[in-house]
Amino acid sequence: MDIDQFRKQAHQITDWMADYLENIEQYPVRADVNPGEIMEKLPLAPPRTGESFQTIMDDFKHIILPGMTHWQHPGFFAYFNANNSFPSILAEMLTATMGAQCMSWVTSPAATELEERVMQWTAKMMGLPESFSGVIQDSASSATLCSLLTAREIKSDFQINNQGFSGSKPFTVYCSKEAHSSIEKAVKIAGLGKDHLRKIEVDTEFALIPQSLETAIQKDLENKRNPLAVVAAIGTTGSTAIDPLEKIGEICQKHNLWLHVDAAYAGTAWLLPETRWMIKGIEMADSLVFNPHKWMFTNFDCSAYFVKNQEALIRTFEILPEYLKTKEDQQVNNYRDWGIQLGRRFRALKLWFVIRHFGIKGLQEKIRNHIRWAQELRREIENSGDFEMMAPTPLATLCFRYKPKEIAQPDRLNELNEDLLESINQTKKIYMTHTKLDGKFTLRLVIGQTNLTRSQVFDAWSLIRQASKKYGY
Ligand SMILES: *Cc1c(COP(=O)(O)O)cnc(C)c1O
Repeated sequence: MDIDQFRKQAHQITDWMADYLENIEQYPVRADVNPGEIMEKLPLAPPRTGESFQTIMDDFKHIILPGMTHWQHPGFFAYFNANNSFPSILAEMLTATMGAQCMSWVTSPAATELEERVMQWTAKMMGLPESFSGVIQDSASSATLCSLLTAREIKSDFQINNQGFSGSKPFTVYCSKEAHSSIEKAVKIAGLGKDHLRKIEVDTEFALIPQSLETAIQKDLENKRNPLAVVAAIGTTGSTAIDPLEKIGEICQKHNLWLHVDAAYAGTAWLLPETRWMIKGIEMADSLVFNPHKWMFTNFDCSAYFVKNQEALIRTFEILPEYLKTKEDQQVNNYRDWGIQLGRRFRALKLWFVIRHFGIKGLQEKIRNHIRWAQELRREIENSGDFEMMAPTPLATLCFRYKPKEIAQPDRLNELNEDLLESINQTKKIYMTHTKLDGKFTLRLVIGQTNLTRSQVFDAWSLIRQASKKYGY
């Protein structure tokens, strides 16, 4: 391919992109293929000589696309969104074109300085304390790992980095039973041991019970453990439960524990002052993560990690081999020392495009609509007679189940809802996933697509009700 052909292909692909997004509703939202079906269509060996771009693109359309789940489809209500937006897509095109590797300031000064500024903007937009410094990570999982590693190093006076674990009392970490699996993963990777993660009881709204946390810490102290950190969930993945941050913060201060806040999904909501009640006490947190790549219209991956003690973070991760030394090291941020990766993508660009394109007001309007529609739908579900809500709806994720009056046995209700979910997804018009709350099979409907309309939300609800009619109750 020469530059003229590249130009031509790029124009054609841009047209394809616009057509795809314009007609996305015509695709089945969830990929409709069996395991191995795509691989069977792929040759066992790579081609010996280059193929025409046209052939490659044809295979993309005919082999790859049918095996894709369409995450930007307005019928996508599954998991949490990984939404994007026009400005974000365009920025990703520029990022791919420049192909810069932004590990240090000198490897692309603009990438570093834009990241610093955009993280300051983000903190301001969300009402976070000014004392927090931000850095973009690939995912909330990595950010949580960074947080626990930093906590470990501070608590060991940076000796585990030097000597490894050597005969010290085992550290213990605390989170609620509803907290995300990435916390357990981080505890394992950080060498703390999964047996030393305490999963604390939750209340009827699935939020951590502070008294149970206090009791667990006391017990560990009595048993000569070394309580290290608490991870508070603001917006759990199952039901978006909000842990009581202020009370947890007070317990952490009392016992001198590190406090990390996992708000991977919910963080975006703090664009709205009316949701900031959920971060009352945030100044007691040592670190916080939220994902613009979930609900803030920014392509995956873009995870915003904020820390109070920037020096401790850097001291945990810093490396300085001769070949990376530069004369500016004292004056600038080298983000390679703010996390796990050395090489880094230029992720700040898309976030900058998104914030500037929508403005704070434009972002707020979208999020406010999502939350408003979710609250309207919650009332409909509560009044429906044959569906019931399974958890509070503080944001825009609804947890509910089908419960016809005729059925009371827990097992039967679980089966019925599992079957109903499959019927709903079989329509290929909408896609939902489930969770279990208190052992009860629960349908989740997440309202957060970039260009979603109110009528698409209520169409989804009609489809769900329609699908439930087949049982004849
Ligand atoms: C999605 C989610 C995560 C994991 O996010 P990644 O960026 O995929 O690592 C962690 N915690 C919560 C509460 C989440 O909802």
